[in-house]
Parts: sequence; C-alpha cells; structure tokens
Amino acid sequence: MEKTLVLIKPDAFRKHYSGDIIKHYENEGLKILAMKLMKMDEKIASKHYAEHIGRPYYDDLMGFMTSGPIIAMVLEGEDAIANVRRINGKTNPAEADEGTIRKLYAESGSRNAVHASDSPESAAREIAIFFNASEILD
Ligand code: ADP
Ligand code: MG
Repeated sequence: MEKTLVLIKPDAFRKHYSGDIIKHYENEGLKILAMKLMKMDEKIASKHYAEHIGRPYYDDLMGFMTSGPIIAMVLEGEDAIANVRRINGKTNPAEADEGTIRKLYAESGSRNAVHASDSPESAAREIAIFFNASEILD
C-alpha cells in the first residue's frame, strides 16, 4: 500500500467541485487517511513547490495557490501515487484524457484543479508539510 498527497486547488474548491473530485478517488478504491480544509500561506506554498522556484510561472503559482481555501488529503491504495496521477490527468487539461479530473474540472494548465505527489520521495516530503503523524488515520 502506498500513500500520496492530494490538494484540491483554490479554483476547484471555489467552484464547489470538491465533492465530485473526492468521489473520483473513492470510486477508484482509494482510501482517505487524512483531510483538512485550509488556506495555504506563502511559507507553506513555497515549501510545497520548492522545486519550482525560479520557473517563469512561479510567482503566478504562489499567488494562485494562496488565493483561497484548498483541501489537503492523504490517500492510500495500491500504486496510489501513479494511480492518482492517472485519475488527475495531464497538467494541462487540453492534453488530459477524457474522464480525468483535470479534463472535467480544470480551467487551464495553471488553474488545474488538483495536485498529486509524483514519487514516493515527494509523497513523504509533501505529506509531512500538511499533516502530523497523529492526523493520519491508518
Ligand atoms: P503537476 O501538477 O502535473 O505535477 P508540475 O509539477 O509540472 O505539474 O507543475 C506544478 C504546477 O505548477 C502545475 O500543476 C500548475 O499549476 C503550475 N504550472 C506548471 N507549469 C506551468 C506553466 N507552464 N504555466 C503556468 N503554470 C504552470
Ligand atoms: Mg508536480
């Protein structure tokens, strides 16, 4: 069993897509181990997206991710990291497969509804940014 960090980003939360998005994960057999509604501040956002510092879209990404509430979740399942990224679809919704969360709910390649960890190392690092061990119910 593998754990991964998912964020429902401010665009999707604002448009009341959270319930529909969570349903996609549950329908695919992923289990929710932790969940919180929160607003990211600059400190958390820059820690989470540290590998993107210096990219041309970085300031926009910081502004967007701190623009409103998000839902952070830890999901668990077999191959959860790859599976959740498949369920999410490609970064740019124009390139995402039919039926994926980004195809259905994303506005653009930057306002793209969801985040998910991309490796076991990222998952461990990102989960620790958002949750204490006592908040993960496994
Ligand atoms: P993913 O979220 O699919 O793992 P990346 O790690 O490449 O994608 O990028 C992180 C986030 O930064 C994206 O989800 C998106 O919100 C934003 N982003 C990435 N590339 C661009 C870009 N070229 N222009 C604007 N925003 C971008
Ligand atoms: Mg990424």
